[in-house]
Amino acid sequence: MPKEYTPEDLVAIWEDFLGGQEMRHQVNEIADFYPEVRSLYVDFSEIEKYDPDLANYTLTHPGISVQSAEEAMRRVVSHSLTSPYIHFRIRSLPRDSRIEIRKLRAKHLETFVSVEGLMRKATEVRPRVTVAEFECMRCGARMYVEQEGMQFREPLECSKDEGGCGRGSGSTRFKLLTDRSQFVDTQKVEIQEPPEGLRGGAQPERLVGFVEDDISGRVSPGDRVIINGVLKSHQKGAQTKSTLFDLTLDIYSIEYEEHEYEEIAITPEDEVAIREFAKGPNTFDEIVASISPTIYGYTQEKEALALQLFGGVTKVTDDGTHIRGDIHIAMIGDPGTAKSQILRYMSNLAPRGIYTSGKSSSAAGLTAAAVKDEFGEGRWTLEAGALVLADKGLACIDELDKMNDQDRSSIHESLEQGTISVAKAGITATLQSRCAVLGAANPKYGRFDENRSIAEQIDLPPALLSRFDAIFTMTDRPDSEYDRSMASHILKVHRRGEIRLHELPEDIPEVDAQSIMGETESFIPAMEVEFLRKYVAFSKRIIPVMAEDAMRTLETYYVGIRKLGEGEESSVPITARQLEALIRLAEASARARLSPIVRTEDAEKAIKIVEYYLNKVASEGGRRDIDLIATGTSRSQREQIYVLRSLVQQLGDERRGVSLEELIQKASPDNISEERVRSLIKRLSDAGEVYSPQPGYFKLASEERMA
Ligand code: ADP
Ligand code: MG
Repeated sequence: MPKEYTPEDLVAIWEDFLGGQEMRHQVNEIADFYPEVRSLYVDFSEIEKYDPDLANYTLTHPGISVQSAEEAMRRVVSHSLTSPYIHFRIRSLPRDSRIEIRKLRAKHLETFVSVEGLMRKATEVRPRVTVAEFECMRCGARMYVEQEGMQFREPLECSKDEGGCGRGSGSTRFKLLTDRSQFVDTQKVEIQEPPEGLRGGAQPERLVGFVEDDISGRVSPGDRVIINGVLKSHQKGAQTKSTLFDLTLDIYSIEYEEHEYEEIAITPEDEVAIREFAKGPNTFDEIVASISPTIYGYTQEKEALALQLFGGVTKVTDDGTHIRGDIHIAMIGDPGTAKSQILRYMSNLAPRGIYTSGKSSSAAGLTAAAVKDEFGEGRWTLEAGALVLADKGLACIDELDKMNDQDRSSIHESLEQGTISVAKAGITATLQSRCAVLGAANPKYGRFDENRSIAEQIDLPPALLSRFDAIFTMTDRPDSEYDRSMASHILKVHRRGEIRLHELPEDIPEVDAQSIMGETESFIPAMEVEFLRKYVAFSKRIIPVMAEDAMRTLETYYVGIRKLGEGEESSVPITARQLEALIRLAEASARARLSPIVRTEDAEKAIKIVEYYLNKVASEGGRRDIDLIATGTSRSQREQIYVLRSLVQQLGDERRGVSLEELIQKASPDNISEERVRSLIKRLSDAGEVYSPQPGYFKLASEERMA
């Protein structure tokens, strides 16, 4: 039978608890430093140790129990302290009280619960009136009205009992005396389920909570927290009251989770298995074989994705500069080349992975936003977007090219510095977004055109694109040999899927299920997902250092390619950004082996990946040209642009300009094709350098520009 208490009993027990040896120190601190210090933090286990019945009662009746504890605090601290602003904050609730947001039910109402998640929104901190003092406009009598909830309450009458004139609210008016009323800081927050609990692409559920007094203004969106408090219900509907209620949490205490990989528990036995696996001969191959095994081909891409899971080393230099270790990968390709499929797979596989689309409809989009909407009830709300929510994890962003303008301008900071700054209205904040990004995008015109360079078909600003450590293009061209093996692969994946649904596969007529399942074993991820995640989490403890010969390998490769660009006529083949990408990939490769040293083999693996993608995206006519991704314009294109611009200037008639036909004709001696003229002239006009005085004619926007 659970014990029952009268309020007086409770206060007395709490007073006794607070007087104990354990609490004495903290209580004294409050007595000395009030009001700067006005919260007492108590671990639940201490209450349990002191009195298990009281502890249980507190879980089921938190409101009255905590109120009594606060009353007891006032008595213990000093009898003169009448202020309501003293808090008894219980934390580290027992595991049984830890409830997932989606599992909160009516039975949890008014009980103490503990909810884990990501802070998604937080409003500005604003005062709320708790005790309002009024003056009767007729007789000048003063009275208090305690305020609860959101509805502001005025006196119903000027009470005679309190020396007033007795007039009702119909025949007098009451003036609010703000300087004599009491206020408390408040903040409204929204917490969202952590991504790891959401296998299988479920949408995260959310819970609104209220924070008061000294703990308000401490959380930022994106923080991983455990919030402890009392579950309350709020009636829906402002005008017409509904019988349906919404859930909110009155937050008593907030605990922060600091370490990204602590949610993955690694036992000593796991550690033995992990070290054993790392020693094996095919460690890396098996890791790669665990990445989307049902997707055919893409070996290089999968190797890069595997390295992305491990990541390079994030460093802070002696002068305080932050160098990112996260590896960013972009996949740009024709429709139906399994990009989305791979993104979903990786978001499930990676610890703290999330999947989102650039088109996301939320105000915060990919980055973050300050918004003034219903949620804030008049206050500004800071809302975290996908990259903030993926802090210390992997953000898989599909349709990256469809992101909104605000994201376009703030995503750079996230990719490079791992932060997102918001400065709008009353809110200035810097949120953490230290995540690796795996982005997917479609070519600008739907499908890659073989006659154009790949770079001009990607609708992402070059400045953004060049921040990716690897950019893969996935083209879908009919090729009978390749098509046959891919079709056969996909068909087998489906047939295996059909058979897997049968309880008695051996009974399926005309089908030799056993041999089919045997043949297609390679579709089973080589490593169990849980084990791979533990392996990845464990690898982050290792900070590999480059060996001398690994450094030389990278240096030789880099310098070798740069040399190709030394001639006067040449392009810039590669920049320091690729060198940093090489370093990160090599570090990740060492981590994947749990090796404390980055060796030549790691450097070579990194080089292979960079070579592979540079060949596809940054070469034109066999010549390596990094400007195709770094600036979006290759050297040969740049030259052609100069030629074309001077043609427009020379040939242009004062009034009409020059016709497209004439340009095409005059450009052909310079080996610029008609197709090229059309696309370059479009670029010039997009950039505002030429304009059309009439359709089909072009004129230089500003003659001085040419000088
Ligand atoms: P995208 O996002 O690139 O447009 P999707 O991920 O939607 O493409 O892929 C379309 C479908 O085609 C998916 O069901 C995917 O499994 C299949 N598919 C495409 N390429 C492959 C491949 N190489 N191997 C196996 N399945 C593939
Ligand atoms: Mg897609």
